[in-house]
Amino acid sequence: MTGAAGFLGSHLVDRLLSDGERVVGIDNLVTGSRANLEASANHPNFTFVEADVSLPWTWAGDFDGPALIMHFASPASPVDYGRDPLGTMAVNALGAMHGVELARAAGARLVFASTSEAYGDPLEHPQPETYWGNVNPIGVRACYDESKRYGEAYVTSAIRQVGIDGRIIRIFNTYGPRMQPDDGRVIPNFCLAALRGEPLTVYGSGAQTRSFCYVSDLIEGIVRLAKADSLAETVINIGNPGEFTINELAQILSEVAGVPLRTVNCELPPDDPTRRRPVIRRAHDLLGWEPKVQLREGLMATLDYFRSVQPQTSLTH
Ligand code: NAD
Ligand code: UDP
Repeated sequence: MTGAAGFLGSHLVDRLLSDGERVVGIDNLVTGSRANLEASANHPNFTFVEADVSLPWTWAGDFDGPALIMHFASPASPVDYGRDPLGTMAVNALGAMHGVELARAAGARLVFASTSEAYGDPLEHPQPETYWGNVNPIGVRACYDESKRYGEAYVTSAIRQVGIDGRIIRIFNTYGPRMQPDDGRVIPNFCLAALRGEPLTVYGSGAQTRSFCYVSDLIEGIVRLAKADSLAETVINIGNPGEFTINELAQILSEVAGVPLRTVNCELPPDDPTRRRPVIRRAHDLLGWEPKVQLREGLMATLDYFRSVQPQTSLTH
């Protein structure tokens, strides 16, 4: 598991360990944290390696080789990848190449964490897996979008040329406990602002939309794809098709937090996609998967988490 100390990676580690798997987690802690691995750190089936997976990997596990490689290492927040565009490109391109090499050598299955950003600012709405996307190759998000697209192309080419069992998950905006409070994504920003009694920062008009998936739903979908025997070469959207404007999100978050709605409008970052919503028919048909957690319920759990990690940010009203 690359990116094991991150938001999604650490939940996947916990899930795989509880399923009885042996897990080697690799992370350079650039955006993740050891605190995310507290629950698994001392598990007898878990090994943690602090390393940059953009560099060539050597197998460090205490068993022959992995049966499954999950390449999840990469900054995921626009603020984080904006801080290190070259590192982001390296981990998604070179990291994927090293993952493919290990998959080939070990005869392992490879799952590549791609993103709804592969669709860019989509002209087709909602987005099925067959849509090719609308990406600015030289914009500020290109380091992320294009390197994920390169990773997809590399994994797909390796499936064709050397016959690995590769699978690609296009993850739509996912949220929940263990997001870094300062990672700049909208849900941590709104939760912290609400808990501090500050106005919620709405970028642009707030009319842009996103579809928010709670982390437990996403993990279930990923594990189903990773473990299914008959799904080599699958490319699949995993996300919650419930679509909300950012203004609606601000309203709902304020209600859930029990604070009056107060917003401040900030500049819209360049190339911010105007809308995003997954078509999840393929996940439903192939994995029998659909999300279960409603936005309000997920936001409640996420607020509880941020309250617990930021005890000084108690409600001010
Ligand atoms: P995150 O930032 O919490 O986790 C990423 C982890 O990767 C961090 O622990 C970080 O330290 C590690 N990492 C980054 N570069 C590395 C490198 N070169 N070597 C080793 N480790 C490195 O982000 P996340 O939300 O957990 O995202 C995980 C994966 O899922 C990413 O690949 C991301 O692109 C993808 N994804 C996430 C979302 C989402 O909504 N959370 C949406 C689409 C795609
Ligand atoms: N956003 C916002 N306020 C914030 C952070 C983000 O209005 O404090 C907006 C952002 O412009 C985007 C949406 O919320 O339209 C989702 O942003 P996020 O960074 O969470 O994810 P992404 O843009 O990658 O989907």
